[in-house]
Amino acid sequence: MPDGKPLSAPQKALIKLGLARDIDLALHLPLRYEDETRITPLGAAREGEAAQVEGTITACEIAYRPRRQLVATLDDGTGTCQLRFFSFYPAQQKALAPGTRIRARGELRGGFFGWQMVHPVCKPADAPLPQALTPVYPTVATLPQAYLRKVVDSGLARADLSDTLPQTLARRFGLDPRWGLREALEFLHRPGPETSLAALEDRSHPAWQRLKAEELLAQQLSQLQSKRERDALRAPPLRAAPGGLPEHLLAALPFELTGAQRRVVEEIGADIARETPMHRLLQGDVGSGKTVVAALAAAVAIEAGWQCALMAPTEILAEQHFRKLIGWLEPLLTPRGLRVAWLTGSQKKKERVPMLEAVASGQAALVVGTHAVIQEQVLFKQLGLAVIDEQHRFGVAQRLALRGKLHTQDESAPLEPHLLMMSATPIPRTLAMSYYADLDVSTIDELPPGRTPIVTKVVADSRRAQVVDRIRAQLAQGRQVYWVCPLIEESEALDLSNATATHADLAEALPGVMVGLLHSRMPVADKKAVMALFEDGQMGVLVSTTVIEVGVDVPNASLMVIEHAERFGLSQLHQLRGRVGRGAAASACVLMFSPGENGRLGDTAKARLKAMAQTNDGFEIARRDLEIRGPGEFLGARQSGAPLLRFADLEADRGLLELAREAAPPMQDRYPALADRHVARWLGGKSQYLKA
Ligand code: ADP
Ligand code: MG
Repeated sequence: MPDGKPLSAPQKALIKLGLARDIDLALHLPLRYEDETRITPLGAAREGEAAQVEGTITACEIAYRPRRQLVATLDDGTGTCQLRFFSFYPAQQKALAPGTRIRARGELRGGFFGWQMVHPVCKPADAPLPQALTPVYPTVATLPQAYLRKVVDSGLARADLSDTLPQTLARRFGLDPRWGLREALEFLHRPGPETSLAALEDRSHPAWQRLKAEELLAQQLSQLQSKRERDALRAPPLRAAPGGLPEHLLAALPFELTGAQRRVVEEIGADIARETPMHRLLQGDVGSGKTVVAALAAAVAIEAGWQCALMAPTEILAEQHFRKLIGWLEPLLTPRGLRVAWLTGSQKKKERVPMLEAVASGQAALVVGTHAVIQEQVLFKQLGLAVIDEQHRFGVAQRLALRGKLHTQDESAPLEPHLLMMSATPIPRTLAMSYYADLDVSTIDELPPGRTPIVTKVVADSRRAQVVDRIRAQLAQGRQVYWVCPLIEESEALDLSNATATHADLAEALPGVMVGLLHSRMPVADKKAVMALFEDGQMGVLVSTTVIEVGVDVPNASLMVIEHAERFGLSQLHQLRGRVGRGAAASACVLMFSPGENGRLGDTAKARLKAMAQTNDGFEIARRDLEIRGPGEFLGARQSGAPLLRFADLEADRGLLELAREAAPPMQDRYPALADRHVARWLGGKSQYLKA
């Protein structure tokens, strides 16, 4: 575009839609098509048919019953049809003057007066009929279809569409050789009138198969490339000799590791013993005991003479980790002149400076905190292992910032820290195979012994009094209770007033019981004070907004009440429920819902509550969540800017996904130049998002 000229609204819209290059335009495929290639005679029309009719206007007037509308009558010699417009311009009225020949397209409805069309698209009947179906592209208001059609056409004509898929691979995918990339795209932008709309819509047409296979392959190649790039980097090998810190820690723990914990500890140990950086996700349901696994990995790093950083998304969670890890590790570290340090944003300078010094000198063998841990001023002496808890709550940028903490004493060969990410939201298999293909995954699939399963009840808000009775019963047994109030997205203030009111109600209904309130606007010191009272059992009921969502560990809590449960996401509900059932006592979760103004719950809200009532299994919950929400939302952090699949569907195209996974390594090895071109074509500059 010419220099210096301001961009027009459609040009801006193109950029916003990511349609910068010719290839991007060529890959911008229609949502659907309109068939303007033929005329349906009214005499042969069917009820409900989307049709194009052509004839002469015989009457046109403004009617006032039942409301103001423009009504024109079209006669094609085989029948008549009324064209009705409830909003219209004077120009439209003029264009429909009696005697004019018109082509009208819309849905045909049979009525008392014969056929009708409401708000049809009308054109003068002089132009020849188009030879192909008319594409309708995904677009925005400032980018009209006609403009977009033109730029897509020229992008398609200019783009380099030479095949990047070697014949042998195309055959492996079972692709029809007649549909190369160019043929497939030209066809999908302008399918001929004889094409089956059904095959286009369900994307089973060979042209669609070609595009989906190519897209999935690009995604696999991009992840393979980032994995190989990482494999070329160096990391310090972390190994602990027998009789070292990890063994001491194990001996000091008040419990035995579960089989699953032992297995993942070994997987992680094998990774960090290598000289290439680990990039591993540790997934395990809430309460499965991931923290101790992280502590053991940290012990290995420390034993090997390196530092370990552990980051959590909230200050409360970070502090819990801090206290737990101090309890486990400090007795072992002190004799060696080492310690555990604590870093958060809310820290006073007076506290912070000595912490930073301990980190820089290496005396702080383990550094626990929030994202404050990765800020620029934090200089590690030698960071060997970084652990990110609840990784999905961190953004891509934060994870990339960790790479800035390289060990660079020897500039020529900087060492990367090993990276362990932890999550209670397991990644369903199809996602693990696609978006997370570059990640190694360890899974804790067993809960520590002695836990009783949580019983989940879904009840209407109108039964609040019974829920309060239930709370009384738990308190009478010396147990504690969480009450979570919903997040009201539009208004944090409303959110808060709701939690405050609930807090007051409960305090009144439960005389003699300490009822606490926790919300995100409170000063950190107050939050900590409330948490401390709840943790040591003095506080019977903790009312909170979703700040307790992750990680909080109070084994004596046995009842979780979630108010307006219909407003929460499924994985959020599961996480919240995981706050109870941590001790031996039978625990319960009550999901209170209140139907909307129309007295009904929405379908997805219903599906979520049903899933919660039916299963406690985090994997099953994650699978249903994916089903309800689709991968876009599920991906969370990776979603921002990440190239989501546009054409392929992970479930429906699982076969192609498996093939793409197998095909990527041989393609990269045998045809590296084609592989690079393929990734650049499909992902442009977006592939780095997948690497964080
Ligand atoms: P999460 O995986 O949700 O982060 P935590 O690490 O917080 O779970 O562990 C939950 C609770 O279980 C903690 O109190 C922890 O000390 C305890 N725990 C962990 N492993 C075991 C085990 N093998 N046996 C008994 N209790 C365990
Ligand atoms: Mg945890």
